[in-house]
Amino acid sequence: MSIRLVIFSALDATLLDHRTYSYRAALPALKKVKKRGIPVVLCTSKTRAETEAVAGRLGLQHPFIVENGGAIFIPEDYFPESIYRSAGLRTFKKDNYRVIQFGTPYRRLRLALKMMARKIARKLIGFGDLGAREIAAVTGLGRKEAELASRREYDEPFFLENSPEFVLVQGPGQQSKRKDKEIKEIEVIHKAQGREITHGQRLGIEGSGERGKLFRNMQKVARSQGLRITAGGRFFHLTGNNDKGRAVRVLKKLYRLNLGKIITIGLGDSENDWPMLRAVDLPVLVARPDGFNLTLPEAGAKLLRTSRSGPEGWAEAVDFLLILHESANRETRNRPTRKTKGGNHG
Ligand SMILES: [Mg+2]
Repeated sequence: MSIRLVIFSALDATLLDHRTYSYRAALPALKKVKKRGIPVVLCTSKTRAETEAVAGRLGLQHPFIVENGGAIFIPEDYFPESIYRSAGLRTFKKDNYRVIQFGTPYRRLRLALKMMARKIARKLIGFGDLGAREIAAVTGLGRKEAELASRREYDEPFFLENSPEFVLVQGPGQQSKRKDKEIKEIEVIHKAQGREITHGQRLGIEGSGERGKLFRNMQKVARSQGLRITAGGRFFHLTGNNDKGRAVRVLKKLYRLNLGKIITIGLGDSENDWPMLRAVDLPVLVARPDGFNLTLPEAGAKLLRTSRSGPEGWAEAVDFLLILHESANRETRNRPTRKTKGGNHG
């Protein structure tokens, strides 16, 4: 019997284009994946509301991991009930899902963000400070998508003073005074600037410079409260002690109990994807649109890097791995025949 594949995939700048949020370039590869019955588990920093919308458009009816590993949402009858017990997992029912929760409630994260701003003596703006229009402006999302993005449960995206996003919205408390026209202007400026400003370079977290120090300082404050900060493709994220990797490992366990032996593929582009990439058998680092190459500690030689970015890179890697997997399966099927020939290998 052939070994089943399971794909875990980030969204922003991976399955979705960083700038346009389009997945069109990935569709042919995604079609092949669906035809083979390979589950695609979306593993994202997006909210449940956003992820549901994307999964719906992609026609995916598989579990998904939201808000940087804050929770796993599993369609209700996806796995047999007994599997959760065998895995020793606590779940609860919500709408048509089985939910496995790892994250810290959003209200606590909001309080912690305010405290952090005081401790590091910097202005920080989180999504909770912004209206849907402003979220649209800083993310480039449409109004409706921005509204879905504001429904946070386990992860607060934020940015620092003097960042391009900060300049765009100019601080919390202003939104009520802002007129629609002004916000419209922000959107236009934002589009003109382009959102391809580099990830690591812009966030500046790797250097020994001021921003590097600031990032480490923020991490220290977060850790003192049992929380953590990661850098996504666009924003910093304040979360509880959860990450994509932990959620991926739990889902892997459930798939293994349900399907037997599996091979897992993971695709991501950002620092917050590292835990996910470390948790899978075949990690794929999708190239950044800005050409900025992340250095991944402990990813090892097995890490596959795509030459293209976003959904094109996604398709490139998935096509390649499907071919590899199929040829490996053919080998497996042919093996007994070889065995009966016997003796060939001495
Ligand atoms: Mg990403």
